[in-house]
Amino acid sequence: MINSQKLFRRSRIRLAIWYAIAMGGILGLSGLGMYRALVQSNWVALEREIESIAGTLHDSLEPMLPASGDPTEVLQQIFPDLCLVGQPCNTSPTLIQRHTTGISDRDIYYIRLFDHHGTLLAFSANQPLPLPQTLDPALWQTFQNDNGTRYHQFTTILHSADAHPPGDDSHAHPPWGYLQIGRTLAPFDAEVRRIQWILAVGLPVALGLVAASGWWLSGLAMQPIYHSYQRQQRFTADAAHELRSPLASLLATVEAILRLPPAQQQDIPPMLQTVERQGRRLSHLITDLLLLTSLEQNASPKPFKPCCLNDLIADLTEELSELAAASDIHLAYHLPKSEIYVLGHESQLYRLVSNLIANAIQYSPPGGAVLVSLGTHDRTAVITVKDTGIGIPSAEQDQIFERFYRVDSDRSRKTGGTGLGLAIAKAIAHHHQGHLTVKSEVNQGSVFSISFPCLSQPRVNLES
Ligand code: ADP
Repeated sequence: MINSQKLFRRSRIRLAIWYAIAMGGILGLSGLGMYRALVQSNWVALEREIESIAGTLHDSLEPMLPASGDPTEVLQQIFPDLCLVGQPCNTSPTLIQRHTTGISDRDIYYIRLFDHHGTLLAFSANQPLPLPQTLDPALWQTFQNDNGTRYHQFTTILHSADAHPPGDDSHAHPPWGYLQIGRTLAPFDAEVRRIQWILAVGLPVALGLVAASGWWLSGLAMQPIYHSYQRQQRFTADAAHELRSPLASLLATVEAILRLPPAQQQDIPPMLQTVERQGRRLSHLITDLLLLTSLEQNASPKPFKPCCLNDLIADLTEELSELAAASDIHLAYHLPKSEIYVLGHESQLYRLVSNLIANAIQYSPPGGAVLVSLGTHDRTAVITVKDTGIGIPSAEQDQIFERFYRVDSDRSRKTGGTGLGLAIAKAIAHHHQGHLTVKSEVNQGSVFSISFPCLSQPRVNLES
């Protein structure tokens, strides 16, 4: 199969590798994009949550803050759940729990309170250690403790209710102090690691699948190219074989003529006739091969013209009546009253129908009959060539349209056939969007039918 041919195997491997590289690149980039988007959205959600808790605490604490003096006593009343700096601490951080209803894991948050000099006043018991006793006023901070756990922290300014009476600009007064609220990043980091793991395992698996499907798809893509390559190779071999036999016999005849003793000069004319016959056969074969190639390449530069099939059939039956008479075949045609036109190359259509009629005559025993008829069916013109000849075995009815295929090679060669007649007929029919089919029974006869799309307005000149 494909892999046994070096050229095709190499092309397939190359195609699969490029496919894997292209798809791998696309997958890798989209994976990276997804990863960044997921991490970013988690991070934004996390900061929003911290900010909203900080906002809630800020709004509920500010009205209760004392105006001045040593705040520690007051703080103890306002924040019974916080540890005060310099005093033993054994409370649990229920303050946060009161303000963060709805948050599933409340232990992950801590708060810290500073005075306006930035000295730590109070903190919740679960704050990470060691944190500085003085304030770092940056709005957002991320840091890591000794265990490697990361924290993210938000700082906001607190003003006491008395520090800025209504109508006064609060920014003109010094702040009462600062509130810091932070949380552990352990769940966030765990989530990021989980996504990284999924990507680390998922991407190679996806790449493996891409490589496998690339191999399979490149095989599929190369299949038609491989078949056409094989057909081309077979055609070249067949053509060489077909050309070799007449050429060899032509050369043998010429050699024989050259070796003839002067006494036998009278034998030369019949031998030259053989040479001429062989030469004609070769020329015929080469013309057929060239026609077939140009048909397959769709290389005809001439535009299609409306062709009258009635005239075509009448002309051809007249032309071939001599051949039919010589083989003792009764050749007749049946045409409809109205004229039927199709778009095409007249010379090619002549060639197509004449091949079929000539075959019908050649493969019918003396005394047989060949009938050519024309009809229309659903805007399709149908030409049928019916004979009472030797017929074609059903197993070979598909193969007769292949190049150089002959049911009975000896007989076909004797009648001058090249084995290209039906291949040319089929190529011409295909070139005209037509179909060529056969129905045949051995010793009963064959019916070849060609159907073409016909012109609805016969006399329209499509060139104008
Ligand atoms: P050839 O030049 O040998 O006639 P064709 O391509 O025209 O080649 O036909 C292929 C083969 O199909 C012939 O060798 C013959 O065996 C068979 N065939 C074609 N037409 C007929 C027919 N009308 N009746 C019986 N056999 C036919």
